[in-house]
Amino acid sequence: MTHNLMLFDTHAHLFDERFAGDLPAVLERAAAAGVGRVVCVGIDRDTSAASLDIARRFPAAVVAAVGLQPNHVAEAAAGDWDEVVRLAADPRAAALGETGLDRYWDRAPFPQQEDYFARHLDLSRRTGKPVVIHCREAEADVVRVLRADFDRHGPVRGVMHSFTGDAATAEACLAMGLYVSFAGMVTYKTAADLRAVAKAVPADRLLVETDCPYLAPVPHRGKRNEPAFVAHTAAVIAAERGESAATLAARTSENATALFGPPAPYAGGPNRAAGSTPGGYFSPVLPFLCSSSNFLTFAGSVDGGFVLSSPQPTRTAAASTTAARPGNRIDMPLHSLRWDRASG
Ligand SMILES: [Zn+2]
Repeated sequence: MTHNLMLFDTHAHLFDERFAGDLPAVLERAAAAGVGRVVCVGIDRDTSAASLDIARRFPAAVVAAVGLQPNHVAEAAAGDWDEVVRLAADPRAAALGETGLDRYWDRAPFPQQEDYFARHLDLSRRTGKPVVIHCREAEADVVRVLRADFDRHGPVRGVMHSFTGDAATAEACLAMGLYVSFAGMVTYKTAADLRAVAKAVPADRLLVETDCPYLAPVPHRGKRNEPAFVAHTAAVIAAERGESAATLAARTSENATALFGPPAPYAGGPNRAAGSTPGGYFSPVLPFLCSSSNFLTFAGSVDGGFVLSSPQPTRTAAASTTAARPGNRIDMPLHSLRWDRASG
């Protein structure tokens, strides 16, 4: 098969027993379809560990997310959360989750779901790793929890996965710094409203995913889903937006790389990515080295004036271009960093 796509499936459950017999072939088909990278997302302690194992087996293609999915928090044993925290330190754990809230299955008491959601958000701020957020029939609650976190700490680094909410929910999440990811449902004939939401998401915040083995896109609906099929989802969104499939694939992959790395923020390495735009919240476009989560050291110069600021007034700092020289250091809490072009 020839293709010129470059796709990133940002949400897959490759540990599922339906992949046990043919995972290498599944990933070969993904590569043949242009899907170069996959995030394997855990739902409990064991599948988080299994996701890291798969990431180790297929290091070029797979990174992991570790966490306790809201439908599984009631069955979490004592020590499961501590194990997630331990697994999160693994360099192949590119993200935390999936977490979030779910009123559809109603398998865990809602306060318990909220407690674990808050733990993931807190761990995300402490580790600098993004959160993968599940939301089913709980849009208002998810936005409420995120806004409480946002108001206290600033932008939330993460993704609303398999988004099925309305335009207002998407806008609220985008305004708090989140990415929005679409799965196979956007290809269903009856999903015109969801396609309209996908059309309106800014190009630099859009992601695609399969959520496999569930929810296969048209024309595979009803079958086992797999990462290769994300090409169908991307094609439908591209058509809706009036873009070429190749353009949308490249853009969403660029976004996914900015979110899931490498290099991840706070990893201690050169932290530089093309394609981000100023005027937003903390972005890896600035050429700096993060030696810890409390200060940054510039690795290069920045063209034009800019201002770095933090919502916590006592820690606000500003820097001019003269400060953006290699070796110069700024002390700021990086979690809440915002940068803008200086005016004038
Ligand atoms: Zn999932």
